[in-house]
Amino acid sequence: MRPVLIALVFSCALSAQSLQRAQALWNAHDYEGANTELMALIAAHPENAEYHFQRGKLFEERFDAEFAAKLYQEALEINPKHAGAMLGMARIAAENFDPKAKEFAKQAADADPKLYEAHELLARIALEDDNHKTANEEADAALAISANAVQAIAIKASLDLLSDKESPWVAKLGSNGKGYETIAYFFVINRRYEDGIAYYRKAIAATPDLWSAHSQLGINLMRLAREGEARQELELAFNNHYRDKPTVNTLTLMDSYNRFKTFETPTTAIKLNKKEADVLYPYFQTELDKIIATYNKKYETKLTVPVQIEVYPDHEDFAVRTMGMPGLGALGVTFNNIIAMDSPSGRAPGSFHWASTLWHEMSHVYVLTLTNDRVPRWFTEGLAVHEETAINADWGDRMIPDVLAAIRDKKLLPVAEIDRGFIHPAFPAQVIVSYYEAGKMCDYISQRWGEKKLLDMVHAFAKNVPTVDVIRQQLGIEPEAFDKDFLAVIDKETASTVKGFKDWTEGIRAINQFMKDGKFDEAIAKGRAIEGLYPDYVENGSVYDFVAEACLKKNDKPCAIEELGRYSKIGGRDPETMKKYAKLLEEAGKPKEAAAALERLNYIYPLDAELHHSLGGLLLQTGDAAGAVREYQALVDMHPIDAADSHYNLARAFKATGQKDKAREEAVLALEAAPNFKPAQKLLLEVSGDGEK
Ligand SMILES: [Zn+2]
Repeated sequence: MRPVLIALVFSCALSAQSLQRAQALWNAHDYEGANTELMALIAAHPENAEYHFQRGKLFEERFDAEFAAKLYQEALEINPKHAGAMLGMARIAAENFDPKAKEFAKQAADADPKLYEAHELLARIALEDDNHKTANEEADAALAISANAVQAIAIKASLDLLSDKESPWVAKLGSNGKGYETIAYFFVINRRYEDGIAYYRKAIAATPDLWSAHSQLGINLMRLAREGEARQELELAFNNHYRDKPTVNTLTLMDSYNRFKTFETPTTAIKLNKKEADVLYPYFQTELDKIIATYNKKYETKLTVPVQIEVYPDHEDFAVRTMGMPGLGALGVTFNNIIAMDSPSGRAPGSFHWASTLWHEMSHVYVLTLTNDRVPRWFTEGLAVHEETAINADWGDRMIPDVLAAIRDKKLLPVAEIDRGFIHPAFPAQVIVSYYEAGKMCDYISQRWGEKKLLDMVHAFAKNVPTVDVIRQQLGIEPEAFDKDFLAVIDKETASTVKGFKDWTEGIRAINQFMKDGKFDEAIAKGRAIEGLYPDYVENGSVYDFVAEACLKKNDKPCAIEELGRYSKIGGRDPETMKKYAKLLEEAGKPKEAAAALERLNYIYPLDAELHHSLGGLLLQTGDAAGAVREYQALVDMHPIDAADSHYNLARAFKATGQKDKAREEAVLALEAAPNFKPAQKLLLEVSGDGEK
């Protein structure tokens, strides 16, 4: 920082010179020098909005959007009509998919009618929402002001190309890389990664030093697992001082790939972190094979390339893998035939159903393959959500209070506009609400027109037909009528919960108090009275939790079993609660039911030695020897402290399946860990001798 004293010697003429100097340093990539010049100018003329604005632009260009927004705000405080600063605010908001972007851009366009960039940005935001009409109008508005507006030309070209039409606008981009870069961006956000990659290459061919395009090319190659070339492009961008977070984070992530182990079959490749690979692999492979067999039939197609599943124990790594940025809320993402997802260990136990996520993402793989990536977001997401509960009613997400509130406040979107809810949420929960709504739309289509109709719609979307036309052609109904009928069903399904929500909330509070006061009968009665108002609520502090606890306080185990049975059936998935339920069942002499309760947990949080120990025992007891082998093998792979016990149990399970050789190996391992372990010695004798045959 420069002392304020120096500022006193500046005259106006010097200021102009100094701004030029800042610009020259900026152009010469001396960003620190440029910043120093601009800071001196601001110190000398704090009332000059332009200097704050210019410094904002510098920071925006150099990847500090947060600070840039602060500087634009300063400029706007001095001059509320500074169109450039408004546009800067709009760009930063748009970068974050913040709906405020539209407001800012409109204000900028009003403040300066010649500012074609504001219309270009409005066109871009509209096209992100898949709103082709507005995108076209705003691009035309920009071109009416400046016939050479590159971004407007790129939007016009993207509109054609996304509709699979030849575009006369592409040629007009000439050697302007940034135009091709915009087209590539629109292909990528429409999940057309190969087309996106092709256009990033065109951007680079036109403007070889467009480092942002090199970086994005690298990131998209990485998404499709072409790691060698991806690294080259990212390093090229990095070495040329293009070091935004996606570039840096992606390079760091690629360095960590040696921590992964890949398991391959002719149709699948599963990449797991070495620290949990052995435990998780059997569960993932079994489920994946089951999914492929099911979907091959259902979608009437076979995948021609192996599907690759990458499972990340560190959620931030996963987020980088998928977006190039941390902080992503999703659990899994699909890029063509490649799925990246959280590991069960990357989330709090009970908060994540990995098998649901895998069925969800695999549905994307099939739908994207069948449509050649030409499917609107709402439909592929809706179908994937539909698949989660189609396989098992207790899988998938439960209806959370945010969704209920959206239904109550009539905030569900019409089918023609629902894509907007995924990209530019107008309220914080709108993305989640849109997933729910799209899923319910597919449930509704399946109920009214049959499950097969969903596949017909997939084929219709493959021809790049817009949503409204697919609804008309395939369902024989106007989109408005579809919305009306659909909402009527949703309203009916949720009416009692929406209406009873207040009573339910107050009821929970009352139960809480009853529990504190030791009034367990009252707690149970109240719980049973309000349970039906909002049966989907299975999170911490649910009615089921309270009632089961009250039953146990009264030592009424059948009462607790009944309550936890409801919790499990409706989709409750807290591991401790489920283990408690299994224990009660086992004590009540119901080992089969106890095993079934624990088996649900393998789809939720399989990294639990106690789970495998108990489940292995129950399966062995109920005659499922193969299941017991699976469970005790998982236990051994978790390297529990009591190695002798886990090997011994695995030996018993192998013996039960008739695999005496393997039983002997495990018994020997048990004795290596604890040479005087009598049961293992006995078992070793039993499986030796005639076991050779
Ligand atoms: Zn999805």
